[in-house]
Amino acid sequence: MGKDLAISMTATTSNEATASTVNLGPAAGLASKESGARIPLAPEFVSPDDFSPLEVVYDFGNVRREDIEAGPRSIWRYKQLLPVPPNVADYPNTEPGCTRLIKADRLAAELGVRKLWIKDDTGNPTHSFKDRVVAVALAAAREFGFKVLACPSTGNLANATAAAAARAGWESVVLIPSSLERAKVLTTAVYDGALIAVDGNYDDVNRLATELAAEHEDWAFVNVNVRPYYSEGSKTLGFEVAEQLGWRLPEQIVVPIASGSQLTKVDKGFQEFGQLGLVEPTPYRVFGAQATGCSPVSAAFRSGHDVVQPVKPDTIARSLAIGAPADGPYVLDTVRRTGGAIEDVTDAEVVEGIRLLARTEGVFAETAGGVTMACAKKLLETGKLDPDAETVLLITGDGLKTLDAVADQVGPRATVPPSAAAVHEALERGRG
Ligand SMILES: *Cc1c(COP(=O)(O)O)cnc(C)c1O
Repeated sequence: MGKDLAISMTATTSNEATASTVNLGPAAGLASKESGARIPLAPEFVSPDDFSPLEVVYDFGNVRREDIEAGPRSIWRYKQLLPVPPNVADYPNTEPGCTRLIKADRLAAELGVRKLWIKDDTGNPTHSFKDRVVAVALAAAREFGFKVLACPSTGNLANATAAAAARAGWESVVLIPSSLERAKVLTTAVYDGALIAVDGNYDDVNRLATELAAEHEDWAFVNVNVRPYYSEGSKTLGFEVAEQLGWRLPEQIVVPIASGSQLTKVDKGFQEFGQLGLVEPTPYRVFGAQATGCSPVSAAFRSGHDVVQPVKPDTIARSLAIGAPADGPYVLDTVRRTGGAIEDVTDAEVVEGIRLLARTEGVFAETAGGVTMACAKKLLETGKLDPDAETVLLITGDGLKTLDAVADQVGPRATVPPSAAAVHEALERGRG
């Protein structure tokens, strides 16, 4: 995100809709995250004032619980709190959200925690939380007059972008590192958009996307030029958790960190619900989870720094493998302000985390979920998570996408001839 680029983006943005005609519901403008300097709603992501990231600011009306409860069973029940037009649900879209919040009593017992919940976002249309952010980005992009949806991705975003574009009848351009898991390549390619594998890691792909976004002013890169809108989609995770708990906030929440956007927006969702009187603004602590092989935010937290030093990722948790996380500093702010902490875990612990969650709760998470699970365990063991406080773990992606992570460790107990005696014998041996 260089300064030159920011200037050229400003100069070349000329989509069909102009600031005066776009209707993004309660969204009133964009503001620099640092100086607060405002600009009108536009497909921009860098403040012309100070080159820091832009964020959506709102004029909320009177938002009532009853209106939300009467809304659709998707993230659009929160449309009064998102940068989307009032008729957003009338367009064909993937209708993400309203995933399960399950009370995880067996896992809680194993960990020695009193009240534990799993927010199971594997239940989204393309099996990760990315459907939420892409749906909001597409709704805003449509309002700005875009017709091509694009992204650089570590996998889940590729799935979500290609599927959302297919459903909307848009073209898609999806850039992935060529080393991506086979399952994530196939589950993107099947939607038949333009999928391009790039020889390089995610940070290379991301840089390439920023370059292309400046060249192709008719492409909406969900996490680049329309990133301010995209990232607001993560608030719906916070909204749903609070609504599903019976209109109240949890005391602790553990969130995985890739770019860091999700973590900061779950916090923003909790804050907005409090400010609007939808919940009591009770205190809560936000905890972050990373894989040790890509843990720049965890490292900065541990050493007390405000600056996040980029790293070269090396972990099986590829969906979290962003070595230069755009929202890293804001994650540090959120975690420190709420009194939380950030932890990181090895790949072996990630696999153990996946298996622990599957064994105790019947939820099969991808490696990112293993990161959240294993970090929660470590945060408990080190006394940072309070075992007596109500805790929510965000499980953001499905294990079917990262089968290789557990492939060496699980399988049939035995292969037997089709005879009852042989089955009994195998079960006996298993017990022994
Ligand atoms: C993208 C992703 C995240 C975190 O995303 P942020 O970039 O931090 O917002 C978490 N879990 C999964 C499975 C993801 O795909």
